[in-house]
This record gives sequence, C-alpha cells and structure tokens, in this order.
Amino acid sequence: MDSQESCTYMTHGAVMPFCKGCGHSNVLKKLNDALLFLRLDPKDVCLVTDIGCIGLADALFDKVHTIHTTHGRSTGFATGLAVADKVLAGNRMKVIVLIGDGGSMIGLLHIVNAALMNVDVTVIVANNFLFGMTGGQQSSLTPEHFVTLTTPFGSMNPSLDICRIVDASKGGFIARKIATDKDLTDVLAKAISFDGFSLVEILELCTEHGTRRNDLKGSMLAKMAEYEGHELGVIKENEQRKEFSLKYESDVQSHTSEFKQPGFIKQSSVHNLSKAAGIVISGSAGERVQSSAAMLCEAAVECGLNTTQKNDNPVTQGSGFSLSEVILSPDEINYTGVSKASFVIISSEAGLKELKAQNIFNKIDNGTVIITDEGIELSNNGYNVISLPLRKSCGADKATLGAVDYVIRKFELFPHYVLKKVIEKKFGVYNKVFKSEYYSL
Ligand code: SF4
Ligand SMILES: [Mg+2]
Repeated sequence: MDSQESCTYMTHGAVMPFCKGCGHSNVLKKLNDALLFLRLDPKDVCLVTDIGCIGLADALFDKVHTIHTTHGRSTGFATGLAVADKVLAGNRMKVIVLIGDGGSMIGLLHIVNAALMNVDVTVIVANNFLFGMTGGQQSSLTPEHFVTLTTPFGSMNPSLDICRIVDASKGGFIARKIATDKDLTDVLAKAISFDGFSLVEILELCTEHGTRRNDLKGSMLAKMAEYEGHELGVIKENEQRKEFSLKYESDVQSHTSEFKQPGFIKQSSVHNLSKAAGIVISGSAGERVQSSAAMLCEAAVECGLNTTQKNDNPVTQGSGFSLSEVILSPDEINYTGVSKASFVIISSEAGLKELKAQNIFNKIDNGTVIITDEGIELSNNGYNVISLPLRKSCGADKATLGAVDYVIRKFELFPHYVLKKVIEKKFGVYNKVFKSEYYSL
C-alpha cells in the first residue's frame, strides 16, 4: 500500500486502499497534482465517483465535495450538478467524474449526452480493461484476446474506442493516456480547465485480475492500444462549441419572458371536511378521467385541503380504462392510495371492469356513494348507488367531469363555486360546459 504525504486536496497522510501496483493509485495522485497545479478552491471542486474500486476515491479527498453514485450513473449526476451550478449558482464548480471501464460501459449514454450538451464536466475513465471490484469480468473496453474471468480463452470482441464515441458526440477535449505517463498531470489539468466537456481515458493495470491472467506489464499498454487501433495522447482540443451554460444563456434565458409562468394556487376559501375523503374516479382512457381528478384536486387545494392523486391506465394511454384515486384531507396525507372510498365514480364500462380487476369494491362500505352512468349495471344491489345520465347529458368526453362536479355540488365537500371557477378556466362559461339537461340533475 502506498501512503500519500503532502497534499492539499487529499486527506493528509491518506493511505491508498488499492492492491499493490494498481493503476488507480497513480491516477488519483496525478489528479491531486493537477488540482494543486490549477490552484482551484477545494470548495469549488466536486468529485463524482462511480461504483468500482475507483469509487473508493471519495474517502481519500476530504477537502473537496464528493458524491458517490450508482453504477454507471456518475456522469448523469455530474451533468445535473454542473448544470445546476452554472445556471443557478454562479458558475464556479469544476465537476470531475471518476469512473472505471465497467461503469463507463454501463453508463455510456450519460457520457454521450454530457458530450452532446457540452456541459463543463471532466470524465476520467480509469480503464484497466475489466470489472476489477467484482472479480475481473469482461467490459466493452476489454481488448481482443484479453483474458478475463468471463473470457477465459480471451475476449472475442475488439474493445470499444470510447474516445471516438466522445468525438462523434462532439466532445471538445479528448485524451487517452497511460497511468504512468509523465505528462498525465498536465493533461488532466488541461482537461479540467477546458471550458466544456472533456474526457481522459487512462490505461492502467488491475494487478489483482488483469496481470494475473495476462502476460501484461505497464510498458506494454501503449502497444496494446496501438494493436486495438486506439490513438494515444491528446486527441482533440477544440473550444469552438459554446459551453452549455453560455448556450443556455443565449438560447433559453433570453426567451424566458416569453414563457407563461405557472404560478401557484392561492388558497381563498374554506372546506367542509373534518377527515380525509377518498374518491375513486374511473372511466375510459381519452375521456378526461385524470384531468377531471386534477381539476378536483386544484379546487380542493384552493379550499385549504391537502390532496393526492394516484393515476393508473394501460401503457397504451389512449385505449382501455383510466383511473384516479384522489384523497382530499384536512390533515397530512402519508399514502396516496385510497384505503376506503367515500365516493366511487364510474363513467364507463371500461372503468367498471378495472375497478373489479383492482378489487376496489373491497374498499367500500354502507357509507360509500357510487355515482354511475345510467348505462352501467352493478350486480350487487346493496350498494348506495346514484345512477345518472352522465354520458347523455355531458357527452362522453365530459361524463367523468360531470360526475366530479355533481359530487361537489350535492355533497359540498368544499364550496362548489371554487370547482366551477377551475372548470371555467379550462372550458369557458360553466353553464355551457355540459348540455342543458345536466344542470337540473
Ligand atoms: S481489484 Fe484491481 S482495480 Fe481493484 S484495487 Fe485491486 S488491482 Fe485495483
Ligand atoms: Mg475496470
């Protein structure tokens, strides 16, 4: 094990936790040196690490921010972090990803996307040609003929050239180096200070799995890259594209006055509920079931109630059933599903079929009021049913909304005029939203 003496960004006296001869130790020392060279304020540096042995870096860098992420997703996290910093917080942070070849294979599209966005993130790919932490399995960056745990006779595939992929994704700074290269610190410093996306792939040894199974020494890494047709050195350094935040400023922020601001719902009325009411709303997809539920929730919030809306529909969206479970409550709601329904609305046969499939009828009792379209027949007469000509008097597309409106009009969970106002916002004058016969129901 190596010890780390004088350092600023690393913990003083940090002991490298890697196997003897592992390339990760060198990569992290050179990263520390690059940060020292750049004299960045440690508070303005964030290391985003991936799963794998390289992910142990968090514990070694105690002066900078660190985030340890799920496997392959470090570049995605870093992208979000960099965008938030650039757009919202003053553009100070240097975000550096430490990822292995396994992680970069799993999260390749995050890398592609960050390069396409040209977000100010540096991705350091510590490539030891296999999944080191999990026992030495093959990755997409494993060279042809390289022996791993899962390719005992040598990999049959050529290795992925991640630098070319980033080049095709318009990344501005791309380098492929070897962990023992004397100028690795300089290249890392250049990549970090590059204004836009940069990636440095560093070829190195996994002494636990790589060199045990292959006749491989550090001095052979350059030849190996050459055999695979992978260029070494600084491959690209091109600042022609605008870094993401500058593009965001010119393409989006300058247009923000054209956007309609969403605004907040103002609480302006009172309600009549002393406890939670669960309302199950069912009907056919495409007939505004979920948007009727949303209007109910909006009006309820305006009346000072807490609300939740849990939606369900088939993957196809526009066919089959549509279902919303709404809770209106004067108290905090801790679970979004309705455990006992005060009201059940059924505006179509497709809705009824789904209620049966989901055993919703187990969630009703004598106090539950069921509002159905007159064309729907419920087999059990013990239910408290109000049958209305919903589809006839409201039209199929507003039958559910008519039922929601009816519940509030007749049962006054909160003042009806508040829902009326929400409906008018969407459809215009309330008295013309439904057919005239609806209003006398
Ligand atoms: S298993 Fe391989 S990658 Fe992990 S610390 Fe050991 S040598 Fe390094
Ligand atoms: Mg690896």
